[in-house]
Amino acid sequence: MTEIEISDEIMGKKFIELAFDHCIKCSTCKYSYKEFMMSCPSGEKHLFESFWASGRIRTTRGLILGELEWNDDIKDVIFACPTCGACMDACQAPHADYIVDIIESLREVAVKEIGPAKNQEKLIERATNPEMWNPYGEPNSNNNDLKEEYNLPDKAEWVYFIGCTSNYRQKSLRDATLRFLKKANIDFTLIDEHCCTSPMLRTGQVEKCKEFMQYNIEKIEETGASKVITSCAGCYRTLKKDFKKFGIEFDFEVLHTAELINDLINENKIEFKSDFKKKVTYHDPCHLGRHMNIYEIPRAIYRSIPGLELVEMERNKNHSWCCGAGGGVKIGYPEWSLEISEKRLREARETEAVILSSTCPFCKTNLNDANEKFNFGFEVLDLIEIIDGLEYKVKN
Ligand code: SF4
Ligand code: SF4
Repeated sequence: MTEIEISDEIMGKKFIELAFDHCIKCSTCKYSYKEFMMSCPSGEKHLFESFWASGRIRTTRGLILGELEWNDDIKDVIFACPTCGACMDACQAPHADYIVDIIESLREVAVKEIGPAKNQEKLIERATNPEMWNPYGEPNSNNNDLKEEYNLPDKAEWVYFIGCTSNYRQKSLRDATLRFLKKANIDFTLIDEHCCTSPMLRTGQVEKCKEFMQYNIEKIEETGASKVITSCAGCYRTLKKDFKKFGIEFDFEVLHTAELINDLINENKIEFKSDFKKKVTYHDPCHLGRHMNIYEIPRAIYRSIPGLELVEMERNKNHSWCCGAGGGVKIGYPEWSLEISEKRLREARETEAVILSSTCPFCKTNLNDANEKFNFGFEVLDLIEIIDGLEYKVKN
């Protein structure tokens, strides 16, 4: 893989050389590689070259080299993509790993030239409101009540970075995680979080991101923690991958809840005392799967739960069809976001599973919204919620 510096070079000469000149328009990015299954929600919706990765690369080239004009007509080409990364997985050219970076960088420039996509400005307006600090427009939870409720210290080895979706939209997932950490005797605490910046980064509204990152790092460091755990695939990717792009350094480890649970299982520390006799299908969150290469860990956990039958959807792991929520699509294109999710639910129905499960509160939200809107009748549960419903013992 060709090494390139992201940061300053992102829209510079290196990308022009690497991506613009190496994209041979082979169309491999339109399907999951070698499987020939549809994989790009954006291209499949619009059925027009500009909406697949190959077209987006040509559009980027045209705009950056001044061959195309910035105007509102080009907005959907730039923003109607959940940045699911299926194109990165399929493309075999040297620029493959950077396709989503190219799309996000194009958005960064687009925001300055023509503004964000419809409604996406709300993400930054709310997140930068000092009464909120989250993209949902909810009054900020400084998490002190939760610290009291769960009797958490100020200093600890771990910080549970709850994330805005778990804290403001998926509280049962958050509470299941808090209960698990307590039960596992993890020495952890919470901080007064500000948004991790994922929604801003994905929509090209990056102006304030560094401040948010620095704030969160400072708060984590105040606790003395050496490990941070997240229950959100988006927070996980952002902390692990994106902070670096902004020159933010930290010396704590970042883990997804699934990684901690898997470690405990491998150390024979979790003993399940009840079973879960249901058929479950797992939806890979794009930000955990294709973006961070975590596919087997959640599956190993589902398989270790007594009675649980794990069944795969046709498109799974790196070939997974996106839930449709990411990249600013849920707020910018809400109807389409649910259409994408509906396709995933149809695929889940073919497995005859009764539970649709994932490891991301944002996937859960969108899958559940589509589940209700289109009457699929699934129970949509995060992995941690399944575990929370079981009787289990964690040995020290
Ligand atoms: S982005 Fe990659 S897969 Fe898509 S057309 Fe270009 S070279 Fe082919
Ligand atoms: S990130 Fe996903 S939706 Fe966007 S162009 Fe690539 S495959 Fe298509």
